[in-house]
Amino acid sequence: MIDYELTDQEKALKAKAAELAAKEIAPQAKVLDEASKAEVCVLMKNNLKKLAAAGVLEAGLADGSIDLISAYLVGEEISKACASTYMSARASSFLAGGAIALFGTADQKSAYLAGLKSADKIGALAYSEADSGTDLGALASTAVSEGGNWLLSGTKDIVMNAPIADVLLVLAWTDKSAGLEKGLSLFIVEKGAAGLSVGAPIETMGLRGAPIASVALDKCPAKAILGGEAGKGYEQVTRLLEMGRVTVAAMCVGVGTACMEKATAQAKARKAFGKPIGAFQEVGFKLADMFTQNDLGRTLSLRAAWAYNNKENDAPILAACAKLFSGEGVTMVANMAMQIFAGHGYLKGTDVERLYRDARFGEICEGTTEMMRVTIAKPDLDRFASR
Ligand SMILES: Cc1cc2nc3c(=O)[nH]c(=O)nc-3n(C[C@H](O)[C@H](O)[C@H](O)COP(=O)(O)OP(=O)(O)OC[C@H]3O[C@@H](n4cnc5c(N)ncnc54)[C@H](O)[C@@H]3O)c2cc1C
Repeated sequence: MIDYELTDQEKALKAKAAELAAKEIAPQAKVLDEASKAEVCVLMKNNLKKLAAAGVLEAGLADGSIDLISAYLVGEEISKACASTYMSARASSFLAGGAIALFGTADQKSAYLAGLKSADKIGALAYSEADSGTDLGALASTAVSEGGNWLLSGTKDIVMNAPIADVLLVLAWTDKSAGLEKGLSLFIVEKGAAGLSVGAPIETMGLRGAPIASVALDKCPAKAILGGEAGKGYEQVTRLLEMGRVTVAAMCVGVGTACMEKATAQAKARKAFGKPIGAFQEVGFKLADMFTQNDLGRTLSLRAAWAYNNKENDAPILAACAKLFSGEGVTMVANMAMQIFAGHGYLKGTDVERLYRDARFGEICEGTTEMMRVTIAKPDLDRFASR
């Protein structure tokens, strides 16, 4: 029998996140979206503190493991209120905190995890570069061992949380001749390290409330290699980003649900030809499609999260399916919401305009939809070939 029920603990966590998001985070979404980049940094730190105080920032984060069901549930609720806040929270607690929880040494866990959970420290993961997004083999950043230190050089051009980060995980070559799987390492770099400079906050189309900047390293001494051993960076980043697809899907379904709820309210309130526009089949069908898309996205994401929690072999593929479906889904859902609001949604500063911009990142973030299809097709083709 298939059991779709969340446990009482999971229901309570989801309800706590939903309440906090509605009361404290949603009212900040428009403010963050329209704030100056300097204000964004201050406002986002406040939001992360609020999430931490309520105990939802650390959802799913444990020593040595990540409970992806909890991470998903909280992610969807926060994203429904403000996708920028979730993506910043996720970069700190899941991308940086998760990497340390999964791969860090005991000393590294005790040095950073408590601070990341309480938002006293903010984390970031810097792996991609101007010429190396999907293709990690094209990375240019290097680490050279000198006098007992690893000195990092290179530039990471788009890093979520860089302007407010206290601890950055930076991917660089330790031995290029060893190839992708053995030659890369993930380094812990602390704010204020010599040779570390963070660029001016970057303007983006959506997620404008999230602090994003480039990071330049000029012979910057790393604090340590994550896990203490060189050559594990590719495996660590790959495992983390594969799990992360479930949390990106949470952003997509959260934004999609916000689109649906706002479009439904508009379909009831807005009248044309003497009746609510929702009474027109063309509008009602859009709401039906939005609901279906969100519900399937949620179901698929929780299926993938469950597979990870239960160590199923297919978990990474299911996570790719969840991200693919939810990423393309939220693009469609946001488009339908915009169509229902029509001219009054297209105006700058409306909720649906912000959601439309935020939604578009779902298909790009940490594995494009194209790469999700490549990931899903490969084992399918392998299975087919063996028959
Ligand atoms: C808001 C935002 C926040 C970000 N935050 C971070 C962060 O915190 N840390 C970080 O390190 N990076 C971050 N990034 C960078 C992000 O990870 C990359 O943009 C993403 O991985 C895609 O890489 P790319 O943009 O270089 O695209 P490319 O890799 O150049 O891809 C371009 C196009 O080519 C296609 N393509 C490439 N290779 C293949 C292939 N083999 N088969 C089929 N199609 C292919 C892609 O699907 C895509 O359509 C962020 C980006 C943004 C916009």
